[in-house]
Amino acid sequence: MKKTAVIGTGIAGLATAARLAAKGHKVTCFEANSTYGGKLTAFIKNGYRFDAGPSLFTMPALVDQVFTACQKDARTYFNYRKKEVACHYFFEDGTFIKAYSDPQKLAIELHAKTGISTQKTEAYFKKAANKYNRVGHIFMNKSLHKAKTWFSADVAKALLFLPSYNLFTSMNRVNEKLLDNQKTIQYFNRYATYNGSNPYAVPGLLAMIPHLEHGIGTFLPEGGMQSISDSIYKLCVELGVEFHFNTPVTEIVTDEAKVCGLVANDRAWSFNTVVCNMDVAHAYKKLLPQVKTPKKIEQQERSSSALIFYWGINKQFPELDLHNILFSNNYPEEFNHIFKKQSIYNDPTVYINITSKEIPSDAPPGCENWFVMINVPANKGYFTQEIKIQARQYILAKLSRHFKTDFEKFIILEESLDPNSIESKTSSLHGSLYGTSSNSRMAAFNRHANFTSKIKNLYFCGGSVHPGGGIPLCLNSAKIVSELVK
Ligand code: FAD
Repeated sequence: MKKTAVIGTGIAGLATAARLAAKGHKVTCFEANSTYGGKLTAFIKNGYRFDAGPSLFTMPALVDQVFTACQKDARTYFNYRKKEVACHYFFEDGTFIKAYSDPQKLAIELHAKTGISTQKTEAYFKKAANKYNRVGHIFMNKSLHKAKTWFSADVAKALLFLPSYNLFTSMNRVNEKLLDNQKTIQYFNRYATYNGSNPYAVPGLLAMIPHLEHGIGTFLPEGGMQSISDSIYKLCVELGVEFHFNTPVTEIVTDEAKVCGLVANDRAWSFNTVVCNMDVAHAYKKLLPQVKTPKKIEQQERSSSALIFYWGINKQFPELDLHNILFSNNYPEEFNHIFKKQSIYNDPTVYINITSKEIPSDAPPGCENWFVMINVPANKGYFTQEIKIQARQYILAKLSRHFKTDFEKFIILEESLDPNSIESKTSSLHGSLYGTSSNSRMAAFNRHANFTSKIKNLYFCGGSVHPGGGIPLCLNSAKIVSELVK
């Protein structure tokens, strides 16, 4: 029997472990933390439950696929429901947009609130769907580093529509050209943040992302986001996967450029195959001193990080929904700060996630559990306690302006997560949320492959490698790895 180790039990590590166990591998998972899930965990304090990391759930079919690949019925492990309204958007001048999941309804809402014609928005969605259907699946579902991907009918067909992918212009430029309405442009620019990128730099191809939210939908897992990792962990246990928590791996052992095991808690373990779910940049530096870190990894720009406050709020706000955005008044300047100035803009876009809107038991009666997040630069050294206090003031000032009251009085519980704690808790280089950014045309190709030609039987999954960060892509990396492993 093939003995396989998985280093790290983020969502990609868990999904890889399940898929390989179902294929007959004897899988052992090593996790530095005391529990599984990595960024996808939750915590409860004083009657408030918070999803600690991801809050937006798209492409649930990819979770289901993990169960079907293991010959199990996903519905007996995990369930979810579709949201009619994706998000509530608020602009500083008082404009409110209820972002219906249904693209036609959204087009009507955008027309009513911003004046853009419904035809323009509908045409935009059509283009986004075409991009996704023609080329998205190639980038998302397959290894870009295997010849057979490129010599396929899918790629030949996709090439026929090359000019329509907007590879040589930015998402913002595409949006300006197609939408000619400032608020609608800002609305669609926001999708660059879905993988921690900059709308003013990311290639126009990524203007396909709105199709995921409005063409396929946004969903809410029953029991909150953590139930995604809970259900796959349960599946792993049933399939006989062994877990070692509080067990950081300190070395991947190789012999003649072939994996032969690893070292964890000062003990040597032998394995035929190792799958690494640790951020690949740290993995080279810390676990593979015998191999030179590929230059590309060192040069690639990281995705944005985040500053999150988990607030227990002693009041309910009927105008808010599960997902809410209070837009910055100067979007270009906000991204300039995140990706160029490496500092936090004084009027940040504030995202508020309130799961108690949908799961009342997540907060005490009459209260709400607020997950309040702003995008901030990955931390190459700028982030300090003083910066955090200052950023908290920016958020509170925005909330106080919006609600026309001193907002701080509603906060009765506070926890936080920042670039430093994201890095220390999950080993994500500079605390980036999604591995590397997609801010260049070559980003998808420069992202580390799911294997290395330098060491046989060593594979990589998770947000720092192909196809990138976010739950759907991490799940795809697990699928790609399970297909690559012999
Ligand atoms: P990670 O979650 O990064 O976990 C890696 C695991 O490996 C960790 O448990 C770590 O302890 C372990 N590990 C590392 N090194 C070692 C070692 N040497 N030995 C043993 N174990 C080790 N995505 C979405 O789809 N939607 C969202 O709304 C969204 N919002 C986000 C908000 C926040 C605040 C954050 C932090 C992320 C968000 N993301 C979102 C991104 C998403 O959470 C990640 O892309 C995804 O969860 C990463 O999973 P992963 O498999 O790469 O592993």
